[in-house]
Amino acid sequence: MDFPSDPSPVWHPFTQHGSEPPPIRAVGTEGAYILAEGGRRILDLAASWWVVTHGHRHPAIVAAIKAAVDTMDQVIFAGFTHPYAEELARGLVRRAPPGLTRVFFSDSGSTAVEVALKMALGHFRHLGARRTRIVVLEHAYHGDTIGTMSVGARSVFNAPYEPLLFDVVRIPFPNGDGAATLAALEAACAGGDVAALLVEPLVLGAGGMLMYAPEVLAAMAAVARRHGALVLLDEIMTGWGRTGTLFACEQAGLAPDILCTSKGLTGGVVPLAATLATEAIFASHYSDDRARTFFHSSSFTANPVACAAALANLKLWDEEPVAARVAALCAMQEQRLARFRGDPRFVNVRRCGTIAALDLAGSAGYLAGVGPQLKAFFLERDLLIRPLGNIIYLMPPYCVTGDELDRAYAAIDAAADVVGRG
Ligand SMILES: *Cc1c(COP(=O)(O)O)cnc(C)c1O
Repeated sequence: MDFPSDPSPVWHPFTQHGSEPPPIRAVGTEGAYILAEGGRRILDLAASWWVVTHGHRHPAIVAAIKAAVDTMDQVIFAGFTHPYAEELARGLVRRAPPGLTRVFFSDSGSTAVEVALKMALGHFRHLGARRTRIVVLEHAYHGDTIGTMSVGARSVFNAPYEPLLFDVVRIPFPNGDGAATLAALEAACAGGDVAALLVEPLVLGAGGMLMYAPEVLAAMAAVARRHGALVLLDEIMTGWGRTGTLFACEQAGLAPDILCTSKGLTGGVVPLAATLATEAIFASHYSDDRARTFFHSSSFTANPVACAAALANLKLWDEEPVAARVAALCAMQEQRLARFRGDPRFVNVRRCGTIAALDLAGSAGYLAGVGPQLKAFFLERDLLIRPLGNIIYLMPPYCVTGDELDRAYAAIDAAADVVGRG
């Protein structure tokens, strides 16, 4: 496929068309690389916005998509079902933390979180309980729809929409042992009107790759439950091995009431999302009263082709040494990150599973000029690294090699000496 002549009518996401360079023209993808015009091979260290797990165009996933589309395209999912969704739902229940017995399909991370919030509120409404408040973490990110912006951090990203965003209770990001967070959660729950605690387990992604301990996650969940609130986990970024385990909550020994997954669910090849819920939440909606129906749908709910891709992903986790590959990547990241611990040019050098992050010292803020400068510096070296302001992180596909990571870390080292100085 060729590129038509300019000007382009495309309006790109998170892109200031008034100041940013024109987009790079991708012509293909392969393993850890985005192939671009002119024969460029750009190492995808952002996993194409955190979705690609095994690598681009994994042959097993591509084959599954081709086979599915020869059989079935979109089929209305109310009043109908199909083997791709049935088998996938069973596969997800089998791999998810215990107690999550019901699977609701949608098509993006934001939608999966919207569904989770609606399930939680519907649950208490149908039980006749007055629980409508949602507790979230400072710096949270759960998506870009009005509902998910409401439960996320307020910032320059959503300032224009602020008048429409609903109120939630925000508790501090858990540093160290999380004492302040737990105290704030305890206080928030004391009124007895909290429906749910919603958090990203172990890593707050868009909030700045902020990491916290599994013990604190477990303790937060315990407080919420002691007060009768549900525990909702947004595993959209953390799922599918990103934090070292299939789901991050496994590290906390935590089985939530609702779990949202998307991004790596299909290996990052095509869009799909699922919201998993406990039997109790399904049961509160189960009735001969039609008013208790869970009224949510997206046109492309449980798209068979996307479900086939996700099934192929699950099969890869079963049949290939994916867990071992993830463990090896964790170790490779740690080895290379180590030399930056104690380097005065960086602060907050950290890692959770396959995700490594470090902040360039002395230039904070997403809108600080340093972010675009860093991004340009890396792109000149054919490395896709998209800093969040001064926060540099590497979230590679699991097929990345040690040599490729060496190139990335050498570039980070070099960037620190030239970007943002004077
Ligand atoms: C990406 C992301 C979302 C939103 O997913 P979309 O598919 O972009 O709507 C929600 N929560 C977290 C933690 C994410 O990283």
